[in-house]
Amino acid sequence: MFTKKILIDLDGVLNEYGKDKFNENYIPEIKIGAYEFIEKLSKQAELYLFTSRNLMLATKWLINNNLDKFFKDVTNTKLSSYLYIDDRCICFKGDYCNLFDEIEEFKPWYRK
Ligand SMILES: [Mg+2]
Repeated sequence: MFTKKILIDLDGVLNEYGKDKFNENYIPEIKIGAYEFIEKLSKQAELYLFTSRNLMLATKWLINNNLDKFFKDVTNTKLSSYLYIDDRCICFKGDYCNLFDEIEEFKPWYRK
């Protein structure tokens, strides 16, 4: 059976990133609903935590939040995937017409 691979960002997607000033040695608490979302999604796809954070720190965060069992791996490499879930991205829709405006107006959900 073909398993879809999905890469999921950490900061701003699975945690309460954005509430406090960024600290590279501390990963904020898990976001409400994140556990249930990951548990459900892990039944449909192979999940990878995709983060620019220190990989050991990110792995510990997964373990502390009992999420490690749902992830195949933690990576900072953009693996070939079916989908990427990230709070800081723009979905390219095939043309460049509105891209500059989208870049100019972009704000992550927690800054709106
Ligand atoms: Mg992020």
